[in-house]
Amino acid sequence: MPQPSVNQALADFIQASPTPFHATENLTQRLLAHGYEQLDERDEWALQPAGKYLVTRNGSSLIAFHMGASGAVDEGIRMVGAHTDSPCLRVKPQPELNQQGLWQLAIEVYGGALLAPWFDRDLSIAGRVTFRTREGKLDSRLINFERPIAVIPSLAIHLNRGVNDGLAINAQTDLPPILAMALEPQRDFRALLGAQLAQEYPDCQADQVLDYELCFFDTQAPSTIGLEDDFFASARLDNLLSCHAGLQALLASSGQQPSLLICTDHEEVGSTSACGADGPFLEDVLSRVIPDASKRIQVIQRSVMVSADNAHAVHPNFADRHDTNHGPRLNAGPVIKINSNQRYATSSETAAFFRNLCNEAEVPVQSFVVRSDMGCGSTIGPITASRLGVRTVDVGVPTFAMHSVRELAGSRDAAYLTTVLTRFYDSEQLI
Ligand code: ZN
Repeated sequence: MPQPSVNQALADFIQASPTPFHATENLTQRLLAHGYEQLDERDEWALQPAGKYLVTRNGSSLIAFHMGASGAVDEGIRMVGAHTDSPCLRVKPQPELNQQGLWQLAIEVYGGALLAPWFDRDLSIAGRVTFRTREGKLDSRLINFERPIAVIPSLAIHLNRGVNDGLAINAQTDLPPILAMALEPQRDFRALLGAQLAQEYPDCQADQVLDYELCFFDTQAPSTIGLEDDFFASARLDNLLSCHAGLQALLASSGQQPSLLICTDHEEVGSTSACGADGPFLEDVLSRVIPDASKRIQVIQRSVMVSADNAHAVHPNFADRHDTNHGPRLNAGPVIKINSNQRYATSSETAAFFRNLCNEAEVPVQSFVVRSDMGCGSTIGPITASRLGVRTVDVGVPTFAMHSVRELAGSRDAAYLTTVLTRFYDSEQLI
């Protein structure tokens, strides 16, 4: 049976999180509502033995942790990692285009987006805007237009007869979304953002919009689909599904075992940033949780990281893209991802640990290895493992259409992942 309550909560989270900034804000609000205390990296921290904390960096990455029972941190931390960002179209800094009587915005492709699905969608814009206030201070706020305000129409087949034989998309010239009829003088995008700020935050005193990080997103709501409700279709399943499963598991866990959730930005572009998984965020937080360097190494060596990011299910129309014995199925549980060239950080010990957890939690489990004649994707697992030296297993929910603007998962798999992650957070024994 599908899991309506799990999937509805996931749908609400994804719909409210069109950008990494919104995802981080929504994770923060959920944690605060459950008694977590927000820390600021610029302040001194006075951590209590049984405390529950969260900290964000750049407003787009988050670490939440609880210390467990007194002294339990010494025995190792149960860590779950995921990423807040998804491939998308981002608005350029000087984006205004007036072409053929229409007003468009220039875009930059963020990450390895499948571009074709962006055509003929009802698009909106959201993200972070930084502005100067009337008192001369700098301030930032998150905005979300929510309603469909843009579209990238396909070119009619009559004007491109060969399109079904192979569509080549030029990201510079083919993708600028259309927002309105052009006006003279040309519309000013920053003025539009100023009006949106005033509407969403009547008290924000914005005088001049200076800069922004804004994503286009598809306004279509997530939905459970299929003749028997077997599928869950949504934007940003990669990787908000795993962020949400990690959050739900952390909140459902008993709080007895030291536990940590890290959701970082910039995975889709390699994670190398101040707040990305290849930056020092996790090390910085751990060095304040366990200030003594020698003890910190001991704790890390007793810890385990479950890196959760979606996997590729075997597609019935393209089954030859998978190894015959390693084609994950939808609704058949989380996938352990293995690559001996270390594109995934899973070892036989961490894989066995996760498989055993699934068995204990009565959750089905699968494994994935890429075809030996194809290259392999990667994720935050190997990056975190190599930076921190923590034992890691890469897992994820099987999906179709990864990096499309509308991806597809099995409607039972988010609940499976949440169940096994909860079991992980509550496990008394690590490896
Ligand atoms: Zn991902």
